[in-house]
Amino acid sequence: MVERVLVVGAGISGLAAARLLRDQGVHVTVLEARDRLGGRTYTSNALGLPLDTGASWLHGLKNNVLMNVAQELGLSIDVTEFGDTTIYGSDREEDRLLDEIEDELETAFFERAENRDSEETVAQAMQGLPEQFGLSEQQWHHFLGVTIEADWAGDVDDLTVAALLEGEEPKGGDATIRGGYVQIIEHLSAELDVRLNTPVLLIEHRSDGVLVTTKSEQFSGDRVVVTIPLSILKTGKPTFSPPLPDDHQTAIDGLRVGLLNKVFLKFPKVFWDAEEAFFTVQNSQRGRFVTWMNLYLTTGEPLLVAFNAARAAQDVEYLSDTETVDEAMNILREIFGSNIPVPMSYQITRWGKDPWSQGSYSYLGKGSDPKMRGSLSKPVGSRLFFAGEATHSEFPASAHGAYLSGLRAASEILSMGSAEK
Ligand SMILES: Cc1cc2nc3c(=O)[nH]c(=O)nc-3n(C[C@H](O)[C@H](O)[C@H](O)COP(=O)(O)OP(=O)(O)OC[C@H]3O[C@@H](n4cnc5c(N)ncnc54)[C@H](O)[C@@H]3O)c2cc1C
Repeated sequence: MVERVLVVGAGISGLAAARLLRDQGVHVTVLEARDRLGGRTYTSNALGLPLDTGASWLHGLKNNVLMNVAQELGLSIDVTEFGDTTIYGSDREEDRLLDEIEDELETAFFERAENRDSEETVAQAMQGLPEQFGLSEQQWHHFLGVTIEADWAGDVDDLTVAALLEGEEPKGGDATIRGGYVQIIEHLSAELDVRLNTPVLLIEHRSDGVLVTTKSEQFSGDRVVVTIPLSILKTGKPTFSPPLPDDHQTAIDGLRVGLLNKVFLKFPKVFWDAEEAFFTVQNSQRGRFVTWMNLYLTTGEPLLVAFNAARAAQDVEYLSDTETVDEAMNILREIFGSNIPVPMSYQITRWGKDPWSQGSYSYLGKGSDPKMRGSLSKPVGSRLFFAGEATHSEFPASAHGAYLSGLRAASEILSMGSAEK
């Protein structure tokens, strides 16, 4: 008899699982709460061209499985040259100093991390380091904002040393996908049975099968793969019956979810250095509008995107659109002068307020243990399976980790053979 599997969530992990199962002859139905596919990868055309508002990079081109997918699909990529970026701030002399020592500082930072207790927070573990390098508080916060919080999306007061050291190091540089992640999503979802606008409320997993209740319908199956983001699982939704085992619940409670947001500004013309991929800004509020990327390089359009991470991202989410754009423009005017043009259009992400993500991606913080990712990934009996970025230990918090987790969950199901009824 053909096996019936329900997949909850049409993000990259759910689609990867569904596709592999479908290719192996399993009858798959994907239940997705949103009115679109892709979850935390979302290529928006709101500004008249495809822009990735969630995941945009393929991190680690040499050990990123999605790079193989992109190649198979013949997608064009733009390798990101992080290189030397101009640091703007209050004092040119200070900026130059920070620029010169940044590589040395980064090496010292990670060397120190390797020798500290993994449960210490980054803030605790790095005490004394700014003094050792003669950095002002603002310079130190700039480094933390740009190098640490913008990557891990967690606040250095909560992010632990374990977070810095977990997972496999990306190798071979990074690239964005011309035309956006949507192309991978469309490929993965082709010919799948996906029910949009179908939030799952209850997942019943019993010895003889599963029953999934949505707002309007019930779906029965042999097994279910749950790819709901960690932040939503933390709210206790959907309900699991019987409740999740202690190990799963401990992992859900213990792992943390960070925030990274983007503010896209489209201008009538380029007024910044058109050749430089990034510039950064020293700001008295750590991480707030500190990293700016020049999208003219990859799109040919006069576009900038500013990143806000961790606490700064949380604070900025509560600003109105006008306040957000005004703050971004004030920073740009300080750097480039008061005569720069106003943006013709903008797009602001608020992944924390988005009810179906409630955050950007997971990290290890106070009370987290790296083993929790493994616990969360474990099947419960032979009916309930988990995937999603937070369940992947080698590449957590990434699109390729999510993808691999989906393949893992599908393989677990396939290796079980046909479900006994
Ligand atoms: C701003 C930002 C930038 C990022 N940048 C990068 C990057 O450059 N490179 C990179 O590799 N990664 C990046 N990431 C991380 C990457 O996007 C995620 O790790 C990955 O997309 C997560 O995929 P997933 O399938 O685990 O979860 P999701 O994509 O969140 O999929 C889960 C799905 O479940 C659905 N869902 C939730 N609740 C329910 C419910 N009750 N019923 C039914 N469906 C439900 C959601 O709507 C969603 O579609 C970024 C993320 C963000 C937010």
